[in-house]
Amino acid sequence: MTADPDARAGRDRPEPEAGPEDALVRALVGVVGDRHVLTDPAVTAPFETDWTRRWSGRARCVVRPRDTAEVAAVVRVCAAHGVAVVPQGGNTGLVGGAVPVAGGVVVSLTRLDGLEPVDVLAGQVTVGAGVTLARLQEHVAAVGLAYGVDLAARDTATVGGTIATNAGGIHVVAHGTTRAQVVGLEAVLADGSVVARLGGLVKDNVGYDLPGLLVGSEGTLAIVTRARLRLVARPAHRVVALFALDDLAAAVQLTAHLRQRVAGLTAVEYVERAGVELVVARAGVADPFAGRVHAAHLVVEVAGAEPPAEGLAAAVADAPAIRDVAVAEDGPGQARLWVVREAHTEAIAAEGVPHKLDVTLPLARIAAFRAALDQLLAARWPGSRPIVFGHLADGNLHVNVLGPGPDADRLDAAVLELVAEHGGSISSEHGVGRQKTAYLHLGRSDADRAAMRAIKRALDPDGRLNPGVLFPASSPAAT
Ligand SMILES: Cc1cc2nc3c(=O)[nH]c(=O)nc-3n(C[C@H](O)[C@H](O)[C@H](O)COP(=O)(O)OP(=O)(O)OC[C@H]3O[C@@H](n4cnc5c(N)ncnc54)[C@H](O)[C@@H]3O)c2cc1C
Repeated sequence: MTADPDARAGRDRPEPEAGPEDALVRALVGVVGDRHVLTDPAVTAPFETDWTRRWSGRARCVVRPRDTAEVAAVVRVCAAHGVAVVPQGGNTGLVGGAVPVAGGVVVSLTRLDGLEPVDVLAGQVTVGAGVTLARLQEHVAAVGLAYGVDLAARDTATVGGTIATNAGGIHVVAHGTTRAQVVGLEAVLADGSVVARLGGLVKDNVGYDLPGLLVGSEGTLAIVTRARLRLVARPAHRVVALFALDDLAAAVQLTAHLRQRVAGLTAVEYVERAGVELVVARAGVADPFAGRVHAAHLVVEVAGAEPPAEGLAAAVADAPAIRDVAVAEDGPGQARLWVVREAHTEAIAAEGVPHKLDVTLPLARIAAFRAALDQLLAARWPGSRPIVFGHLADGNLHVNVLGPGPDADRLDAAVLELVAEHGGSISSEHGVGRQKTAYLHLGRSDADRAAMRAIKRALDPDGRLNPGVLFPASSPAAT
């Protein structure tokens, strides 16, 4: 899919704060050239509203540097003018982290799109932060390799954005999150200095691991400009199966069964009846079981050097409670099954602006959480419609609540408190962004949060990088 923020912009946006615009713009033009400093509201609008349409603001301008030296110079100009910097990749983030809600200069990284030759000996590649996941996959496929992270926003989400959010996606069960793919980084710090670990050394323990610290830092500690990434073997064969089940508890059991018996498991994705109905109605997706109604489904992908379909069939022969199954070994058939899952985010967006909560639960408690969520919504937001799906092997549910009605402001807090009560994480793979700054205490202790604030103050003492993201705007860390 192509996440097109252009089509989603257009809410009323506040006027930019008054200030010496011209001097700032002139200085930025001096760095990147006239064409790459955008000030016309019609042109800047797609950079100013997030993918969900829940967050928007007005930037002083949008600046589009082409390389690391220009990013560093832009950061220095912003510091000299006392202006905040909002790093932005593909703007597909779902927690409001890449848009100028509190003003500032949006630094769009999409022109940093260099692809260096694949280092086949090391199984690594160095690429610019603005390269999209789809282009990266295409580049490394040419030498028989693959990148371990994939997600539905692949055509627009960038390497830098996925590093800044520590994105997960559909292949975490096989390869881990983005953190596990990053061998090294190059990044511009808040004072305009550049740190780099691009030598490709897998073992390199010389003190603190700065690249590791920057993964998941959501643009609050540095701007990632290049990345050295680990690659994985590109499997010759794949099978995709859509299993129909009675409920989430049965899906959890089947996931455990598959984990024990199937080598080469690359995806285990969960969708519910309400979501399937929505993608059929909104995205024109064919009903996978032609009207036979099932409450829960798993999209399972297995990859290998040999065709894995027979192995999967044997593995599920004694699996509990499978009500229906559709299997595809060819590309188009697999795409038809995958779209049932991947069309969810866009179909939900077409329905309205949801409360979107990306959370992780321990698998042992995930079904209890799901039942408690329905009870909570029925009791307090009776008109609401939950659409729940996610990456089940990782315990990751995307809770989307449409049309909560009155008292909706309390909904995020109530759901996240429920997650914490069930031993889960309030932020699974999308990050904290602006959405969850008020709830950090539900996921991190006082000591943890104090250490995080100390790191922020040390690397960004003036609170210039993405203020209001990760920490509340009024937090001492941001000043
Ligand atoms: C349809 C759809 C499906 C999705 N599926 C998944 C999924 O399965 N798994 C998942 O994890 N996410 C998913 N997402 C969310 C989103 O794609 C990810 O968060 C992705 O990592 C964002 O990348 P981006 O380039 O669009 O970053 P942006 O949205 O532009 O930015 C995200 C954050 O990173 C910061 N940032 C961006 N670039 C840089 C940089 N170079 N240096 C420093 N900071 C930077 C921004 O300031 C912001 O805080 C999905 C989104 C959509 C729309």
